[in-house]
Amino acid sequence: MSYAGSCLCGAICYHVNGEFKSTSHCHCTMCQKQHGAACGSYGNVSIKQLEWLCGQEMLRLYESTPGVFRGFCSTCGSSLTWANQAETPDRIAIALGTLDTPYEQKVTKHIFKDTRVTW
Ligand SMILES: [Zn+2]
Ligand SMILES: [Zn+2]
Repeated sequence: MSYAGSCLCGAICYHVNGEFKSTSHCHCTMCQKQHGAACGSYGNVSIKQLEWLCGQEMLRLYESTPGVFRGFCSTCGSSLTWANQAETPDRIAIALGTLDTPYEQKVTKHIFKDTRVTW
């Protein structure tokens, strides 16, 4: 399996080679803020599986907690990546909402359910 993805404006595009190691809906308040949504949905891969095909220079990183970097498109603001570079520098999470290839499975876990929205 492989997946293609891109940001809203199309400046950034990427390819994931192989299957996600795990997938999640993250209900933490930081994901709610960053995604402007009820949760952030991510697929975790090895950094070796991720290939930037276009616009990598447009990606900006926001360090939301020490060592944790959230990547987004500097033009359209699409949330693209989440990475804990301090603890798991060989892993990266891809925002599932930016996939162009349909992800047809259920996510494997829900995390930070204590802050799940009630709406
Ligand atoms: Zn964009
Ligand atoms: Zn989160």
